[in-house]
Amino acid sequence: MKVVCLSGGVGGAKLAAGLHDVLEPGELTVIGNVGDDLEVLGLHVSPDLDSVLYALAGINDTERGWGRAGETWETLESARAWGGEGWFMLGDRDIGLHLVRSQALRDGESLSGITARLVLAAGLETRMLPATDDRLRTQLVTPAGTFPFQEWFVARRHEDEVDALRYDGADVSRPAPGVIEAIEGAEAIVISPSNPYVSIHPILAVPGIREAIEARRSRCVAVSPLIGGRAVRGPLDRMMQRLAGGTTPAHVARCYDGLLDALVIDAVDATAETDGAVVVTDTLITDRDAARRLAETTLEATMENPS
Ligand code: GDP
Repeated sequence: MKVVCLSGGVGGAKLAAGLHDVLEPGELTVIGNVGDDLEVLGLHVSPDLDSVLYALAGINDTERGWGRAGETWETLESARAWGGEGWFMLGDRDIGLHLVRSQALRDGESLSGITARLVLAAGLETRMLPATDDRLRTQLVTPAGTFPFQEWFVARRHEDEVDALRYDGADVSRPAPGVIEAIEGAEAIVISPSNPYVSIHPILAVPGIREAIEARRSRCVAVSPLIGGRAVRGPLDRMMQRLAGGTTPAHVARCYDGLLDALVIDAVDATAETDGAVVVTDTLITDRDAARRLAETTLEATMENPS
C-alpha cells in the first residue's frame, strides 16, 4: 500500500515512525517541512527532516523530544566560547549530519538529493522528500515584530503571540522531484499530528502540492495534534485560539479545509465540536508501540469507504 505522510518535526516524526514500522519497506513516502530550516554557524540545518530521519532510524532522544539520543554538546560550547552564536542547540552527533548536508549543498547537490543519501546511510527504505528544494522560510508576524521561525520558537521561546504567518519564497518554489508523483500515486495520504501553521501549511504553500492532494483519488486523513484542546507540546493551542478562534476538532479540521476525508481525534475530544468525519482513538504517542497502534488506526481510516 503506497502511503504519503505530510510531516513536520517532533509530533509528525512520531507518527511517521509508526507508519514506517507497520507498512512494508518502501511503501511510505514522507514529505517534510522545510519552512523551519536555518543556517547556523555556517551550517544548513533542516530540523524537521532531521527529526523524521532520527525517529525513523530510532536514534532520536525520546525524553528531550528532539535531537539525537546520547547527545553531547562540546562543539557548541566551544563555538560559544569563541564568540560564535550559541542560541540554537546543535549537539555533537547532530552536527555530523549538518556537516555532510551543508557540504553537499555547497557542492551543488539538491536538498532532496542529499536527503535521499542520508536516508540510505541510515539504512532506511522509507522515502523522505523535502516539500521543495527551493528556499522557503516561515516567518511569524507578532506584536513584537516579524521573526524567522527558529528565532521566534527557540531564541524568543515562542512567547510572542502570533498574528499571522508568511511562507517566504513559497510562491516561487517548486515541489521537489517526486513529491507530486508520490501524492498522485498514493493509495492513502496521512497528515501527521504536526502544527498546521508552522509544519503543514508551509508544505501546502508550495504551488502544486495542495492541488495534487485536492485532486486525490485516495483518502486523506489527518491526526489532530491537540488532545483535550491542548497541544501535547509547544504553542499550538495558543496559536489556534488566536488564529482559528478555538481548539476543538472542528477548528483543527478547518485548518485543512477541502483536504480531509476524516480527522483522527483523541477520545477526550469525542464530545467536543467536530466538523466532518472523525475517528476516535488514543492519539497520545508515548512510545513506538503507541506510534504503531495510531498508525494502524489512521491507515484503517484511509481505507474506509467515503460516506
Ligand atoms: P515541530 O516542527 O518540531 O514543532 O513539530 P510538529 O509540528 O511536527 O509537532 C508539533 C505538534 O505535535 C504539537 O502541536 C503537539 O501537540 C503535537 N504532538 C506531539 N506529540 C504528540 C502526540 O503524541 N500525539 C499527538 N496527537 N500530537 C502530538
